[in-house]
This record gives sequence, structure tokens and C-alpha cells, in this order.
Amino acid sequence: MNTNQDKQDKKQIYNFNKLQKRLRRNVGNAIADFNMIEEGDKVMVCLSGGKDSYALLDILLNLRHNAPVHFDIVAVNLDQKQPGFPEHVLPQYLESIGVDYKIVEENTYGIVKEKIPEGKTTCSLCSRLRRGILYRTATELGATKIALGHHRDDMLETLFLNMFYGGKMKSMPPKLVSDDGKHVVIRPLAYCKEKDLIKYADAKQFPIIPCNLCGSQPNLQRQVIKEMLQTWDRQYPGRIETMFSALQNVTASHLCDPRLFDFKNIRQGSTLAGIEGDIAFDKEEMPNATTTFTPDDDSLILVKEVS
Ligand code: SF4
Repeated sequence: MNTNQDKQDKKQIYNFNKLQKRLRRNVGNAIADFNMIEEGDKVMVCLSGGKDSYALLDILLNLRHNAPVHFDIVAVNLDQKQPGFPEHVLPQYLESIGVDYKIVEENTYGIVKEKIPEGKTTCSLCSRLRRGILYRTATELGATKIALGHHRDDMLETLFLNMFYGGKMKSMPPKLVSDDGKHVVIRPLAYCKEKDLIKYADAKQFPIIPCNLCGSQPNLQRQVIKEMLQTWDRQYPGRIETMFSALQNVTASHLCDPRLFDFKNIRQGSTLAGIEGDIAFDKEEMPNATTTFTPDDDSLILVKEVS
């Protein structure tokens, strides 16, 4: 009996160590690929009380021990005065792990409730207010980077949301600068899967604060996209990974945005055919395709007509 229990415990520890290593590697790679954190940075980690931001803080604190550069961390939570917000939870947790922190109290909940008529979505005003407060706090704290807990799946959901509902091919950037150029926002979890973060939060037993305190309806469009991606992930394992690779492997000359590629100046004799070269009439090869890929009929017709 004991032996079985021992085996189970060992397996659990082994699995947790693997998960932790993977998350640290993912975060380390994202930081390196986008030069997110540099020598002497003060990183303000925005903590909402959700699993992702807890994991972000935990992993950054962990990575700091062996990081090739010195950087400081300060955790910040914005208490938006939503009814039922358990004010003691974050300070208790942050004190228990001995990290510098600041709780900013601003009644954005009250402002949103006052300005937005009942039944209308409150999120866009709420996030605008929150962003302004976080930028101001970063200045007050002398933070040089603002770290947010969005992960790979958030980025893919945003890509599809923008394509389906916004007519834009646009995701969440791993790193960006605020409009006034004063703040650099980073997303060190950009390479982390949500599934891993759920398991990590569970194993670490972070004191999660529910995210529905504002009473706002969940974003239904995002929910639809989330379910679509989860269904694909079940039916076609690997598709999510392939789609995320696509985000890192964009060929502007083979899309249709003249602001990104100078189509007008392509003429006979031009040498620049885009980084993919001239493959206008080639059959697309899909070496990493996770499902059976059938080229569309048009491309076959073109090949036939030309040959
Ligand atoms: S869900 Fe609530 S707290 Fe979150 S952005 Fe929307 S209104 Fe604000």
C-alpha cells in the first residue's frame, strides 16, 4: 500500500518538475527572443489574482535566481473595488513569498457602473481605466517594464477574434510600447500553453480570486473562439502549435496588405520576390501539416494551365 503511494508521489513530483521546467524554459525563451528583460530593469508584474498572473510572478521570481542579468520585481494589484473582492488574499500571499508589492485602490467599478448603461458591455471602459492606472503606477514605482500574464492561447484567440469580427490579422504582441513611448509592456508567458498554466496553478495551490466579481457577462465572442480552438486541439492534435508557429513565420509578400509589402513596384526585372521566392504556380508542400492537406482546386487548375 505504502509502496504504491510512494510510487504515485514520486510520479507526481516528477511530472510537476517537468511542467515547471517546461514553463521556465518557455518563459526564458520568450524573454530572450524578444529581449523582454534587460540588465537593471524593474519589472512591474500585474497581478489580477487569476492563475496566469500568479504563475507569471512565480516563474519570474524563479528565473531571476539564475538569470544572466540583474532585474528587480514588484508585484502590483489594482483593487477595482468590485463587490466581494477579498482584499486580504493578495497581500497575505505576497507577504508569504516575500516579494515587494503595491496594492492600488481605485474605484473603477463605480465609474464603470455609473457611465455604462445596464446591460451594455463594461469591459472596454474598464480596461482603458485600468491601463491608465497601471501606467501611472509604473511611473510612480520607477518600473521600466510592465509584465502581463497573457499566454499563447490568449494570443491565438485574439488573432481569430480580430479576423472573424474585426477584419484584421492582428494578435497580442509579446512586447509593445505605450502610445506616449513611456512604457514597455511585455508578455513573458507568450510561449506558455494555458493547459500548463492551469496544471501549474493547481499544483502550486495559488489562492485564486474569482474573475466574475464585476458581474459583467463573459465575452461571448471570445468564448466561441476558445471553444473552437479547444475542439480543434482535441480533433487535430498539434494544430494549435502549428498555428502559433504561423504567427512567428509571416510572409508579407504573400498576403494582401500594400502597407507591409511594396506590391506596386513589382515589375518585370524586379529581383525581390518576397522571402518565400516565386512560388506562384507551385503546389504547396505542408511538411508539418497535422491533418491531411488537400490543395484547393484553383491551385491545381493553375498548375495544369501553365504546364
Ligand atoms: S470582466 Fe469586469 S473587471 Fe474584467 S475588464 Fe470586463 S468589466 Fe473590467
